[in-house]
Amino acid sequence: MSSHPCLILVLNSGSSSLKFAVHETGRRTPLLSGLAERLGDDNATITFRDTDGKRVQPLDRSTSVSGHAPGHPTALAAVLAELSRRGWVDVLAAVGHRVAHGGERFSASVLITPSVVDAIEACIPLAPLHNPAALLGIRAALTRLPDIPHAAVFDTAFHQTMRPEAYHYALPMDLYRDYGVRRYGFHGTSHRFVAREAVSLLGLHPSDHGLVIAHLGNGASATAVQDGCSVDTTMGMTPLEGLVMGTRSGDVDVGGVLHVMREAGLDPDEMGALLNARSGLLGISELSNDCRELEAAAEYGHAGARLALDVFVHRLARHIGGLTTALRRLDAVVFTGGIGENSVRVRAMTMARLRSLGLQLDPAANACMTGGACGVISAPDATPCAAVVATNEEWMIACDTAELARQAADAMTAEA
Ligand code: AMP
Repeated sequence: MSSHPCLILVLNSGSSSLKFAVHETGRRTPLLSGLAERLGDDNATITFRDTDGKRVQPLDRSTSVSGHAPGHPTALAAVLAELSRRGWVDVLAAVGHRVAHGGERFSASVLITPSVVDAIEACIPLAPLHNPAALLGIRAALTRLPDIPHAAVFDTAFHQTMRPEAYHYALPMDLYRDYGVRRYGFHGTSHRFVAREAVSLLGLHPSDHGLVIAHLGNGASATAVQDGCSVDTTMGMTPLEGLVMGTRSGDVDVGGVLHVMREAGLDPDEMGALLNARSGLLGISELSNDCRELEAAAEYGHAGARLALDVFVHRLARHIGGLTTALRRLDAVVFTGGIGENSVRVRAMTMARLRSLGLQLDPAANACMTGGACGVISAPDATPCAAVVATNEEWMIACDTAELARQAADAMTAEA
């Protein structure tokens, strides 16, 4: 495999899924990617995607490494079997793992050691659904690939540059000291990647710029980035705070939440499920969490779909305005994520609400920016400007992992 001198495997483990991508260093498009779904269930499948198309394969009990319904180890075994078939296992240089929560311990990606695994475990109370899933993937991969470096890339790390006034809630400080209650922020890998790309696309100075990045997907958050560092973000202690999302409420008066719990007799888990899975675009529209579907329904006069999009944009514009106050100067608003990269309508509605900040849309440029296209969507010479940048979190994870593996190899050479 001399044509693939250095491959990085990127793993993103969910509680019942394993997303993967194989990147060649220096190439942004993965050679192979895919998703194992319904893990823990007898109907689990794995999908492989490459330039030839996609192939779906069952992960049944007969392929299970444990004899039980296929889980993360079985999914990883299937990924490695595919890599082996392609002759790629021997040139696998490192594995990068996406980890949701690194608490205050991690402000950058790190090589995984036993103490890093312990620290990720210690963050489970902060991310009870996500960190255990990441650990499933990490443990499975460490077992199968013990001889190459593994890196952890945290969703929270980029936001560790926020100052105390941005990350504290106005709650008794013992809640911060005893339970880690503070704002951490998420989507950090995407915000970091998009900020870097935007600086290059817009010709901004790498150490003198101010951006607001709006990552709008099924989960959504916006971040103020000054001189390459996150200075404020809309998600908080959990990914529930901030913008309206597909099924998550975003900001809501805690008084209202307490009222509903008392009146409807909901316990914390039930209220959590309502806020996470039955709210947002889905809750308002009573139709769908999917922006594309809502846009189509709004065209045909569906009142719920129109209201959901209006609330989404209102909240987004309000947060973008608020985030600019954390910056020295606003150079650009940058849209990314499934909605940010594709929805001409949501971008146009948002830009119309940002005129007071000096933003002016170029409708023709806006209409062109879909399906991964990147570029400026504001009127020529307007400042601040607005742009679309396609995010690529897997690529960012692969880059961090390759860099950490290279540093480790250099350190070993220096020691020898
Ligand atoms: P993500 O979570 O980043 O994959 O984004 C998913 C969201 O992007 C869903 O709400 C989709 O409806 C939305 N989306 C994808 N393509 C389009 C499109 N062409 N127009 C509007 N929304 C889109």
